[in-house]
Amino acid sequence: MIERKEIIEMLAIDNDQELEQLFAKAYQVKTENVGNKVFYRGIVEFSNICTKNCLYCGIRKDNKNVDRYEMTDDEIIEAAMWAHDSHYGSVVLQSGERSDAAFVNRINSLLKSIKKRSNGKLGITLSVGEQSKETFERWYEAGAHRYLLRIETSNKELYKKYHPENHSYDTRLQALRNLKKTGWQTGTGVLIGLPGQTVEHLADDILFFKDFDVDMIGMGPYIVHNDTPMKSYSDSVYPENNLNLALKMIAVARIVLEDINIASTTALQAINPTGRELGLRAGANIIMPVITDVKYRSNYLLYEGKPCLDENAVQCRSCLERRIATAGESVGYDQWGDSPHYYRKRQIRSHNR
Ligand code: SAH
Ligand code: SF4
Repeated sequence: MIERKEIIEMLAIDNDQELEQLFAKAYQVKTENVGNKVFYRGIVEFSNICTKNCLYCGIRKDNKNVDRYEMTDDEIIEAAMWAHDSHYGSVVLQSGERSDAAFVNRINSLLKSIKKRSNGKLGITLSVGEQSKETFERWYEAGAHRYLLRIETSNKELYKKYHPENHSYDTRLQALRNLKKTGWQTGTGVLIGLPGQTVEHLADDILFFKDFDVDMIGMGPYIVHNDTPMKSYSDSVYPENNLNLALKMIAVARIVLEDINIASTTALQAINPTGRELGLRAGANIIMPVITDVKYRSNYLLYEGKPCLDENAVQCRSCLERRIATAGESVGYDQWGDSPHYYRKRQIRSHNR
């Protein structure tokens, strides 16, 4: 087991040579444990309506400068089928958080429709925030099998600082536990480079992932959105630093957790056009191409500078393929690309029983 002290040292690396060594080591751990295929999850950002008010987020409820939208069922299914026909293997359905009955029922029937239309072939990940245990059970039954719910930061004080009073760290953690109990491949992650966040906090985030025994990680740099209360901190946020720190977090997560899935997130690309390729070189093995219709993209801005707002899914597909080849990787088309860790730990458990 790698000690906290070593994790802190890796995250604090600031010279180019040591950084290259860190990325090379992470890349080696990646190829040994999950190979060098990248798996796609086409992400459909189907609604920006959110009942929450996370202080960093551009689509928070109180931001009045956002045109709220909701894609129709047909549009969502069509986007999912486009991913299927393009051999993407999986989709992620993501939105702001709602937990009213109409929303829960709608997701349930959408999951069933997508499963039916793709003959059960398309893998579905959900990322729609905190829900009750019953809802998680229903949606799992309906056919989704992976869920992304970032803890955002594993440090309770920081969590409190960047969320309103009625957003609870403990509730979020409990939701993650419920997902795991229900059988979901469970993914979490953190924002990297929040004002006041130290390498010690980030090392504890890595230890949190390990201790929670996560199957997947999706994490990325914090990027300021000017219509949020956190705009006032923008002078203390350095995008290049946050990108570097995020790449180091990917590398260290790979070295410590070995056989999990790690996403190279779009936020990396928002800071540097080649950010996602750098993420793959640092140990990530998942890419989530945005397949949301162009007419909605500019209203799903969690942060400023989101790339590819005017490129449709077809344009993104050919652009991505070039980028991935540049990174020396190939794409695992038509495969779910599940977390090897999820299956390995289950085998060990059933073996022990
Ligand atoms: N509403 C769901 C899913 C959509 S938000 C949820 O919150 O879980 C998806 C992720 O966007 C969040 O987990 C958060 O980490 C990230 N995000 C929000 N605002 C951001 C910002 N300003 N910079 C970088 N990432 C941000
Ligand atoms: Fe809503 Fe998610 Fe943004 Fe929080 S991070 S305000 S839950 S969309």
